[in-house]
Amino acid sequence: MSGNQGVELSIQQLEKTFGQLEVLRNINLQIAPGEFVAIVGKSGCGKSTLLRSIAGLEAVTAGEIRQDHQLISNSNLQARMMFQEARLLPWLSVLENVGVGLSLTKGWKERANWALQQVGLEDRADEWPAVLSGGQKQRVALARALAAEPKLLLLDEPLGALDALTRYEMQELIDMLWQQQKFTTLLVTHDVSEAIALADRVVLIEEGMVKKDLAVSLARPRNRTNPRFAELEEEL
Ligand code: ADP
Ligand code: MG
Repeated sequence: MSGNQGVELSIQQLEKTFGQLEVLRNINLQIAPGEFVAIVGKSGCGKSTLLRSIAGLEAVTAGEIRQDHQLISNSNLQARMMFQEARLLPWLSVLENVGVGLSLTKGWKERANWALQQVGLEDRADEWPAVLSGGQKQRVALARALAAEPKLLLLDEPLGALDALTRYEMQELIDMLWQQQKFTTLLVTHDVSEAIALADRVVLIEEGMVKKDLAVSLARPRNRTNPRFAELEEEL
């Protein structure tokens, strides 16, 4: 289970309104297969709405979202999403939670175990989610996403509720898995240094529009001492 190849994503003239409220206005983004893009911006600027639209969870008002040149629909969507809360089902074991999206396909346990290994929790497979720490729950949520071998990973502030050390460990884990598997990744984060540390590119949204779109690919977590890191932090 490897050799994942991310999808290409093309967003054209995307608009989304809720009643009178214009939340996304003329969003245009081209995202290459395997690219890691961070999306930053003030609370309420439309980041989650953008991700939900890409995930097909929100009907758009105008514009197009294409995945490998095809309009996204429920049948072709190869995305998995992760949220600030792990959203685990308390009545299922850790392993069953990871396997939940795999239905009853043959070999789901093997696949779920593989995904748990990816996040370093293979020895917790038979436990209940309730006994895990917040960081471990997010690891399980990440494993649940990975188990489906997604071609597109949509991360909506997944580390926002974690303490600093756990957040850093999770950043390293996400970075490592992305280096290995190269799923196309969109990470929404409040944390500009997290965006710079993980992404190839940082998109700044203001009032539903793309305000900046910056290449940052030199910086990785181990590279926070890079002088360009501080420059980029300044710029965003
Ligand atoms: P962000 O994730 O950047 O904080 P959101 O995308 O969640 O922002 O929200 C952008 C704006 O859209 C906010 O003003 C929010 O209140 C509004 N909004 C989001 N979802 C809905 C909805 N289902 N109905 C009405 N307004 C919504
Ligand atoms: Mg949000």
